[in-house]
Amino acid sequence: MSALLEQRTSARAEAEPAAVVVLHYLRKDDITRGIVLGAPATALCGNFATPVAPGAAGDGPSVQVVCPECERRFSMLL
Ligand SMILES: [Zn+2]
Repeated sequence: MSALLEQRTSARAEAEPAAVVVLHYLRKDDITRGIVLGAPATALCGNFATPVAPGAAGDGPSVQVVCPECERRFSMLL
């Protein structure tokens, strides 16, 4: 169970404006696949998010927001 989830990772929500980066919680396997293949993954909160490699999230100034629903659900699993 503890190995199921990776900690918070950068992911761009499909519906968000480019300047806002929402940080969702994703499964480790989904993060790897998303970075390699650019495939969207389902975040803990149920939203689709495309993982990006660390440091690649910002093309210029951006605001990073942790998804509150992901954070809430993740805290329940600990
Ligand atoms: Zn989320």
